Amino acid sequence: MKKLELHWQIIIGMLAGVLFAFIMVQFEWGAKFVSDWIKPFGNIFINSLKLIAVPLILASLIKGVSDLKDISKLSQMGGRTIGIYIITTIIAVSIGLAVVNIIKPGKSISEETRISLVENYKGDAESRIAQAHKQEESGPLQALEDIVPSNIFKAASDNGNMLQVIFFAIFFGIGLILIPEEQSTPVKKFFDGFNEVILKLIDLIMLAAPFGVFALLAALVVESPSLDLFKALGWYALCVIIGLFLMICVYLGFVWIFTKKSPSFFLKGISPAQLLAFSTSSSAATLPVTMERVEEHLGVDEEVTSFVLPIGATINMDGTSLYQAVAAIFIAQAFGMDLDLWAQLGIIVTATLASIGSAAVPGAGMVMLVIVLSQAGIPEAGLALIFAVDRPLDMCRTVVNVTGDAAVSMMVAKSVGKLNDPEEKNWNDNYKA
Ligand code: ASP
Repeated sequence: MKKLELHWQIIIGMLAGVLFAFIMVQFEWGAKFVSDWIKPFGNIFINSLKLIAVPLILASLIKGVSDLKDISKLSQMGGRTIGIYIITTIIAVSIGLAVVNIIKPGKSISEETRISLVENYKGDAESRIAQAHKQEESGPLQALEDIVPSNIFKAASDNGNMLQVIFFAIFFGIGLILIPEEQSTPVKKFFDGFNEVILKLIDLIMLAAPFGVFALLAALVVESPSLDLFKALGWYALCVIIGLFLMICVYLGFVWIFTKKSPSFFLKGISPAQLLAFSTSSSAATLPVTMERVEEHLGVDEEVTSFVLPIGATINMDGTSLYQAVAAIFIAQAFGMDLDLWAQLGIIVTATLASIGSAAVPGAGMVMLVIVLSQAGIPEAGLALIFAVDRPLDMCRTVVNVTGDAAVSMMVAKSVGKLNDPEEKNWNDNYKA
């Protein structure tokens, strides 16, 4: 019997998880059972993905940079990557602004709904606001200062900072390029092998993916807040989802125009990573699978993926920036504020920067939203309005974040002549040797 493709296995796992949770909540003990006995397996699955994210970024970036062989190639690829990332983010924010200004979801929120939502989620909102202000209180160059770690082990540890890990890896890779070949070769070989081991580990972890997403979705369903609130926020959520959908169309168009690859080719190749992004709400946890899919199924050369994707997972969050723009305007509308063109242009800038600064973990986009709100003079307490629907939207925006990274990596690959036909990969490898 032919084995079911991975994305089907994951979809079945997700649906089964949701169904299972709906059945379990019918029993008094059901929700607790899911939290105690099912959820931990979802957490184990996410942990195992996160476990390999840092070593993967380190090994693949060091290898990626040192394979470029000279610094001018590095700055060429780096410049293109960052440039395209920023352009796609600005497009995303603009789409979000357009959709939310046309649909105007916040105008339909009644005074009572607003007050009750704010009351319901006040505590949660306050803790997010405090968290964001802690990040904001620093001087103008703090963000730059934070990129350089004083201790690489601390940067890579539990509450570590991916940007710092990326900095170290690129720096190390540059060092490798600059030393004589006989000394650099063994170090490169080590990281090559290390990289291969990590890729194998991803294969092993993905065997458990259908069960992992089953557990994650089951736990999510039993823990969701009441459906009433979702109704009040339906229009807002719809705006975010329409915007995200349009953004996916933009990627498909870009990939089609720049690389001549069809939308179905792209979607088929990347879909397991998208499904995983949806179930985990974390681009960092999805990164290992994104890299594998883009390399093996979309034909992007390792030289490009190992450089473009780890950076993308950390700084390119188009879904997040789009969501932040929609959320900011929605809250402003709900509070009866009319934002003029200047204020909206300001949101393009702050949402772009806030999405770059968001960590690739669940809920990070919402924390950084506070900064967008405070810059635009929108009441931060409005965060409470959107709390109830944040998790499902987080799942959707993470899909777009991951899809954007994959699309940009294809464009960068094409521009430097590193886009192959996936079927021909082995053929090419044989001939490269
Ligand atoms: N969960 C998102 C990600 O990991 C970030 C966010 O928007 O909260 O890509």
